[in-house]
Formats: sequence, C-alpha cells, structure tokens
Amino acid sequence: MFEKVLIANRGEIALRINRACKEMGIATVAVHSTADASAMHVRLADESVCIGPPPAAQSYLNIPQIIAACEITGAEAIHPGYGFLSENARFAEIVREHGIAFIGPTPEHIRLMGDKIAAKQAVKSLGIPTVPGSDGAVSSDAEAARVADEMGYPVLIKATAGGGGRGMKVARSPSDLSLALSTARSEAKAAFANDEVYMEKYLQRPRHIEVQVLADSHGKVLHLGERDCSLQRRHQKLWEEAPSPALNAAQRQEIGATVTRALEKLGYLGVGTVEFLFEDGGFYFIEMNTRLQVEHPVTEAITGLDIVREQIRVAAGGALEMEQSDIVFSGHAIECRINAENPFTFRPSPGTITHFHAPGGLGVRFDSAIYDGYKIPPYYDSLAGKLIVHGRNRNECLMRLRRSLDELVVGGIDTTIPLFQKLVREPDILNGDYHIHWLEHYLAASRPTSAK
Ligand code: ADP
Repeated sequence: MFEKVLIANRGEIALRINRACKEMGIATVAVHSTADASAMHVRLADESVCIGPPPAAQSYLNIPQIIAACEITGAEAIHPGYGFLSENARFAEIVREHGIAFIGPTPEHIRLMGDKIAAKQAVKSLGIPTVPGSDGAVSSDAEAARVADEMGYPVLIKATAGGGGRGMKVARSPSDLSLALSTARSEAKAAFANDEVYMEKYLQRPRHIEVQVLADSHGKVLHLGERDCSLQRRHQKLWEEAPSPALNAAQRQEIGATVTRALEKLGYLGVGTVEFLFEDGGFYFIEMNTRLQVEHPVTEAITGLDIVREQIRVAAGGALEMEQSDIVFSGHAIECRINAENPFTFRPSPGTITHFHAPGGLGVRFDSAIYDGYKIPPYYDSLAGKLIVHGRNRNECLMRLRRSLDELVVGGIDTTIPLFQKLVREPDILNGDYHIHWLEHYLAASRPTSAK
C-alpha cells in the first residue's frame, strides 16, 4: 500500500480523499493555489505545497508544478479527484513516466473514453446499447442534413471532445440545423480547442441513469448499482439518487451485468461510471467517466462501501475482496448539490460565509470544505457542499432530506438550498416522476417575474 498520496485537487473532494487516506493510515500532501492558502484541504493534510497563482491553468492544472510537489514531498501516488486533471490522459502518462502511481485507470482508457465517438464505437462493439446517431464525426452541413433526415428530428449536435454539457445544441427542424451546427462547433472549439462534432437522436423524456463500476488489476469487475441523475440544469446535475425510482430489480441486474461484462472485456481498472439515457424501458449509452464522480456518496450510502478506499486499494495493485453477490443495496439515498449560486438565476455567488451550520442526525452526511468565515474564491466551480441523506426507503429519505435542508445554514452568500426546499415538496419529485428536462421546465414556470 502507498505510504504517502498527493491529492491534486481542492474543495470537498480533496477533503473526501484526505479522509479515506487517513483511515487507511496513508500520509497526505495537499497542493493549493495562493487563493487557497487557508483552505480546509490544506489545513487537514499532513503537508502542503503551493503550486501557483489563483487561475487553475497556473495551479491546479499546472502539471510540472504538481510533479515537482510529488518529488519534493516523496509522495508515491497522485489522486486527481474529479475535474481538473482527472480525465487528462497525458497527465496520467506523465505521472507514470515519473514512476509515480496514478490513482485512476490507464492513460489508454482515459483517452479512449475522452473521445466520445471512439468511446461510443468501442462500447457498442462490447455489447452496450448506444443512442442512434451518426456513425462518426459529421464533416459538412449536407452530411448532417442527410443523417438528420434519416433519424428524424429533433437531433442533438455534440462535441467529440465534449464535457460539462458544452458544445451541445438541439436542432428541432431542418431550418435549425445549420445554426445548431455552427454554434456547437464554435462552442466546442472555444472550450476544447477541437471543433469536431457528431449527431444523436435527441430523446424527448429520458432519464439519466448511470452505473458505478469498480475494477481491480486481477480481472475482477463489480457494479455498484445505478444512480438517477435526471434532475439537471443546462446538462449539469443538481440532485442525484440511488436506486433510480424508474428501474425494477430485473432491469438493474440486466444493465449491471451488461456493463460488467463489457468492462471485463476492456480490461478496465479503477472506478468508472457508464452513463445512459433511459427511455421506454431501453438503455442508450452516452458516455463513460473514467474517474470518481461528485455523486459517488449516494452509492456509498446504499452499499456501505467506501468507494475512494477501494479506488486507492486497486490502484496499489490490491484485489477486490468482495464478489458481486456481496454487494447488497439497502434503502434509498439522495444527494443535493449545494452550490454558491443564486437559486433562481444560478449566477455564481462567491464571497464570505458569515454563518454556517451543518445538519446532522441519523443518515445525514454533509461533504464540504466550507467553514464559518470561509471566503469562497471566484476562480473555481461553485460547489460549496453536498448534502447526502439515506433512509430505509424513498419516503423516509425524502422526509429526512426535508428536515436536513431546514437545519442547514450557509449565510452571507446565495445558495441552491431554497431551490431544494421547494423541490422536496413537489408532487412529481415525491412520486419520482421526472426526466432530464423536468427541472428546466419547472424553473421556467416558477421563476419570479423579476428574474425572468
Ligand atoms: P457531457 O460530457 O457534456 O456531460 P453527456 O453526453 O454526458 O455530455 O450528456 C450530458 C447530458 O446531456 C445528459 O445527461 C442528458 O441530459 C443530455 N443529453 C445527452 N445526449 C442526449 C440525447 N441524445 N438526447 C437528449 N439529451 C441528451
């Protein structure tokens, strides 16, 4: 096992990884920008190294500085968390070339899944169903029009290098197509320096259902069930739950087995998430994330497993100690992303937290790096905390979520708490009856006039 791990991230996920390391007896090294000198992830790690000025490109994405921090402190492994360098295949390669372990999959698998066209073709050949669409990239407007006519409108233009919902545009009719293509291309070029796009049938009322997997280097792949992440705004998840209110045990077992078989054939290592759209009983692959995800705690709540611990163990060459039949799902869990944003306009709200009180009690977990007097810097994403609630069934979970949200106080900045307080009282949410466009429709209908 590693003796010292460098955590190449910040915020709640750096704390989450620090916790797993501590419980495994592993020493930790935090890295930070000058803006994060007094951040909680720096305070709680055994050692810390400042790696640059506030902009992420010069600090959390600064590969030479991160490698140097590893060498100075003698860390044997790097955990990249999510975001930043976590899905950068070149980074994983450089880490390996320096004789440092990368806590994640192989660079080859990161690269394969990072190219969304190659990923789709690869999983299709491994027996995973995909969304109908263009065979590969579409290079001209004429080709796009031909594909769209064959599939039928609406169609979705997506960036090959996509991520975070960027470079994605819907064309509802032939007259929309040319504008949707050019906007998607220019967004993709700006965000990913790659304007290649492909097309998919735009599904009207699907759910977003993703399967969590865990694989060791001895050929064992396990699935930890699914998460339903259908409540999204601008393709960004806000509320995640497990199990999905839309799946029955047979569907769960079937998709879990399909994914497990495919990843066994691929020789996958580490944690990963295979994402699907689910409509009319059918699953359609959209992408695979080759990293730990923000919403992993809902799976931890219903399985009792520490996913980060297992991730570190398999990266160190350890074998998974359980079988698929040992993975038992118990009760229901929901996560709400508490973002430092206006709950109606979603404008980021960085600034000083003047009052903070975390909820507690049975089945309540609050993962966050904030504290009383903490100043949220304007340079990074707006996730301020994650409230994860577990109950014996979905009803108990919803009632516990309601009271936990009422206990949670984050003063001095705007947060998404008031939005969740409304959502836990909405009949469709209580019935589990929602799809990926539900939240956008709800927000459009309920926005105060002043914010419209
Ligand atoms: P990204 O990598 O940018 O997050 P994904 O392929 O994971 O992109 O898609 C993000 C979200 O976009 C999905 O959760 C879903 O809400 C929506 N989406 C993606 N593909 C489709 C599709 N074919 N039809 C309808 N919605 C889609």
